[in-house]
Amino acid sequence: MLRDDDREDPVTTTVSLTSQHPTEDSVRETVISWRRHLHQNPELSFHEERTAQFVADTLALFGNLEIIRPTPTSVVARLIGARPGPVLAMRADLDALPIEEKNTHDFVSRHPGVMHACGHDGHTSMLLGAAKVLGARKAELAGEVRFVFQHAEELNPGGAEELVKAGVMDGVEMIIGAHLWLPMPYGQVGVRSGALMASPDNFTITITGSGGHAAIPHETTDSIAIAAQVITNLQHIVARNVDPLASAVVSVTRIAGGTTYNVIPGQVELAGTVRTFDPALRARMPELMKRIVGGVTAAHGASFTFEWDPGYRPVINDEKASDLLRRAVVRALGSEVLVEAIPTMGGEDFSAYQQQVPGSFFFIGARNEERGITNPHHHECFDIDERALDSGTRIFVAAALEMLGGWGVSGTRDQ
Ligand SMILES: [Zn+2]
Ligand SMILES: [Zn+2]
Repeated sequence: MLRDDDREDPVTTTVSLTSQHPTEDSVRETVISWRRHLHQNPELSFHEERTAQFVADTLALFGNLEIIRPTPTSVVARLIGARPGPVLAMRADLDALPIEEKNTHDFVSRHPGVMHACGHDGHTSMLLGAAKVLGARKAELAGEVRFVFQHAEELNPGGAEELVKAGVMDGVEMIIGAHLWLPMPYGQVGVRSGALMASPDNFTITITGSGGHAAIPHETTDSIAIAAQVITNLQHIVARNVDPLASAVVSVTRIAGGTTYNVIPGQVELAGTVRTFDPALRARMPELMKRIVGGVTAAHGASFTFEWDPGYRPVINDEKASDLLRRAVVRALGSEVLVEAIPTMGGEDFSAYQQQVPGSFFFIGARNEERGITNPHHHECFDIDERALDSGTRIFVAAALEMLGGWGVSGTRDQ
């Protein structure tokens, strides 16, 4: 481990590397070209066959890596160092989204209705870049770097859980993972210990009354009017049942019921999502919701069903893993880029790994106001400042060298 006063200027350490081996500098343009190739060829969750094959084929070119296919759409590469030591896992995700791309750059999606609109093309590329650089520095490593290219982050139950079941975390001491992050400008990297991302749980509520003529409402039990009251009252949970210092969201995102102007429908379906960080609060949420839906529907003579579809666990970052990341960021890019990450109510199945081993998930700023790269994740014109890919590659390389001793006992890089 390094002492603070041993740290060198990151630019100096980068340029001092020998030129015949791939370095963070020499892979920068290749990483961008991989990202663009993946962006043009997106595949949906659990269908990343060609993406995984591209990753496996690319990794095979680097040499020095043991390549494993734990599932048909995922790839794991093991880089075993020259000396024994801990196993550090690094994770990227491979999947795209069912979105029709509206960007006009020259590497738009070639697959209608499918788009890399979350940045996973970038995650995969920068981890490939790190694998290439670290592969050439195997002799310096004491331990193993395990590169995890995971399928299906976007679709519950997620690919991470499958990889854990396949034993991908066996022997791992720590895991790190990144998200290119549009809420943050390029040039900032956000790390945080503790809660970073929420549990994205989903619900479906069916309200059953009795239908009839819209002009004779007293002979119906109006499921639409009752649904409106249910939606309003559900907000009472966050406003009045949850500790104001805790965090929760209840969002009704779909209402389905009725067919025409003059018929009161007998049934309305509501669906939506609940986001929480705290496991105890998370466990209470369906009960609080059922109490309200039950009370409101009973008050108006209707009945209901309630379905709860639990999503990923919250991303709670380990302190030691976050410290490793902070040192890696400072080493790779300088202390001025490091900021405290702001938690988000979005979800991530990186949490499945954190159930097994200590881990930390971090954000790499990829927003560029001047160039209009500001659209949020999952937007049809989502894009990233591609300079952020280089940041990711450098941080992954630095984290491995920090943990597995590549910086040498004196705190300077072994040459
Ligand atoms: Zn996403
Ligand atoms: Zn994502």
